[in-house]
Amino acid sequence: NQLILKAENLKQHYQVKQGLFKPDAVVKAVDGISFHLEKGKTLAVVGESGCGKSTLGRMLTMIETPTEGRLAHLGEDLLTLSKEAQAKLRQKIQIIFQNPYGSLNPRKKIGAILEEPLVINTKLSKADRKAKALEIMAKVGLKTEHYDRYPHMFSGGQRQRIAIARGLMLDPNVIVADEPVSALDVSVQAQVLNLMMDLQQEFGLSYVFISHDLSVVEHIADDVMVMYLGKVVEQGTREQLFNNPQHPYTLALLSSTPQLSPEKRRVRIKLEGELPSPLNPPSGCAFHGRCRYANDRCRSEAPVLRLNHANEQEKDHLIACHAVEENRIGALSAQTV
Ligand code: SF4
Ligand code: MG
Repeated sequence: NQLILKAENLKQHYQVKQGLFKPDAVVKAVDGISFHLEKGKTLAVVGESGCGKSTLGRMLTMIETPTEGRLAHLGEDLLTLSKEAQAKLRQKIQIIFQNPYGSLNPRKKIGAILEEPLVINTKLSKADRKAKALEIMAKVGLKTEHYDRYPHMFSGGQRQRIAIARGLMLDPNVIVADEPVSALDVSVQAQVLNLMMDLQQEFGLSYVFISHDLSVVEHIADDVMVMYLGKVVEQGTREQLFNNPQHPYTLALLSSTPQLSPEKRRVRIKLEGELPSPLNPPSGCAFHGRCRYANDRCRSEAPVLRLNHANEQEKDHLIACHAVEENRIGALSAQTV
């Protein structure tokens, strides 16, 4: 399958001033992330708020420039291109945000909102712009008469359809969707997810789907990446992540997801405590303060993301955990199921 997006060791480190008497801190918002995204596929990025997933999304769309790493779109290195070439390529990677209320200009009609990217980036005539807007509106389930209406006249779900339509106006290859259904009612979430899957089929789109909610991701993901404090702790196919989850953090996220079927919640782990401050990350494994499997090694040595050699089908399944490597999880969890 055609490789659309390739990220290698992407990092976003910020210098943060802490006031007069404290030294500047370095926040490692994203700390070494790699993945491949093929045409027509969906990579889900999952984690609690503050784990760096939105920062990753902004780097993929070049709203933020990584402080380190490589990012290639169709084999072209995005980070070393000229500004003009970057702007051109950026059109092919669009982003959709969680809040369709905030991201649509309330003073503009839907037609003008949709045509704006064409005004900025193409030489299409007014008539051609309108034709394109109406075509895309039909694809996302909006009606012709909506063209002259304002965003406030629409429901949350319809506004997210408008945001998706705007994202499609420049015929992108990739859409980064940052919590696209989190602000919507559960009944509307499914409609928007189904729409996204239909559009993916029709246009061969690749998605980077960012969510805090594993149950949302289970329907749409081909691959899943679980993030914790800027790092990936587990990465694999949807089947690997949902049928054979390994990392204690993934297990905890799955346990706190009521929609998942009981047989998939084979291990019950309650997620306790809060995400530590990225200004002062824990030593060793960043999850150790919340992990029931933590031992001295976990508190001093950071685990490396590596292959799970447990079995053949697991060959692409990456996990960063000492207890998994030492085979301590099964034994402990058997006592508590
Ligand atoms: Fe828990 Fe240790 Fe694994 Fe981190 S490395 S998730 S603290 S067992
Ligand atoms: Mg976020």
